[in-house]
Amino acid sequence: MAETRFTGSFTQQEPIPEEGISAALELLRTGRLHRYNTAPGEVSLTARLEAAYANWQGARYCLALASGGQAMQIALRACGVRPGDRVLTNAFTLAPVPGAVAAIGAEAVLVEITEDLVIDLDDLAAKARASGARHLLLSNMRGHLCDMDRLMRVAEETGLTVIEDCAHTMGARWNGGRSGNFGAMGCFSTQTYKHMNSGEGGFLTTDDPELMARAIIMSGSYMLYERHGAAPAPEHFEKIRLETPNMSARMDNLRAAILLPQLDRLDDAIARWNTLHDRMAERLSALPGVALPHRPEPEFYVGSSIQFRLPGLGAEAARQLVAEAAARGVELKWFGATEPVGFTSNHGSWRYLRAQALPRTDAILSTLFDMRLPLTFKPADCDAIAHHLDAALAALRSPEGAA
Ligand SMILES: *Cc1c(COP(=O)(O)O)cnc(C)c1O
Repeated sequence: MAETRFTGSFTQQEPIPEEGISAALELLRTGRLHRYNTAPGEVSLTARLEAAYANWQGARYCLALASGGQAMQIALRACGVRPGDRVLTNAFTLAPVPGAVAAIGAEAVLVEITEDLVIDLDDLAAKARASGARHLLLSNMRGHLCDMDRLMRVAEETGLTVIEDCAHTMGARWNGGRSGNFGAMGCFSTQTYKHMNSGEGGFLTTDDPELMARAIIMSGSYMLYERHGAAPAPEHFEKIRLETPNMSARMDNLRAAILLPQLDRLDDAIARWNTLHDRMAERLSALPGVALPHRPEPEFYVGSSIQFRLPGLGAEAARQLVAEAAARGVELKWFGATEPVGFTSNHGSWRYLRAQALPRTDAILSTLFDMRLPLTFKPADCDAIAHHLDAALAALRSPEGAA
């Protein structure tokens, strides 16, 4: 523990499984990278991935896409959001979420969060009534699930269609039900920093054949929708196939080749993430002044990152903590910064939106810190990170005295 600096990398992923590398090389040698470029009788890797993911997720239908952002845009459109409509979403999320709403010409109405970093269901009900919005793009930001049973009751009472952004909850469950299977559609990302890594990529899942038929045509299937791995029967396309625009957001076979073996290993990855997360949570909770969000009993999470608050910390001290941690090799993100940094921004920086007052969210974000937990970390790294954070906090309390 004597090292003065943590030397692990918070952004280093595990390698792609060898099986995926060989499958990718084999595919490159065929040249058939496009999902519809198949030899007679061949089922494309993308179609196979859709079937495998639908099965793992427990959804009837699955569509593989170019990104999680595209999954959200297509889901919003498939569910009937029109330009100018209002769409409710969490005030605490990442920029692609309000971005997806803006991309389809709709207007995001931001909902407050609670200290447990989930959507505030009372504010949701109030804003659903006040705004007249018919849709909620629920962001399960940083893997925290709200009370999904109560959320679905609020949605029913207020006439909201729910679309789930599961970029951080692939594999998570509430009361046994998989995140993504509660609302009308679930959106997933396979971008490098999520739970499977194809560089860029995403999935859309649903049990509704009409929604999926529209989503498949929008994804850019031309009239090749029968070449899908988990699609509704052809009759569901008859009515909509000529009135639904093609938005070119397909996944390709190269990404599918590297994702298929990762899906086989996903449950194992989730178990390893939770080992890291729970060790980190235990160490962080022992540090002075640190508050961790409460994880309710019905929630099964995937701990690919961890968040903590330092209630009462001022903005200057928060900036100082980020710097003290960085000097010790620990990469902390702070959600209270007024200027966006890297991937992290807050609602004040989304200037394409109408400015919205979110005092409770702002108060929470002003003392909220976040760390990635890549699977290249070992459990002992969590102890080292906590040790360095302890030193960074001590330095904050007495800048001269602390080591
Ligand atoms: C990454 C992310 C997305 C979108 O995923 P991309 O595949 O990068 O488009 C959506 N929501 C959240 C919360 C994310 O972090």
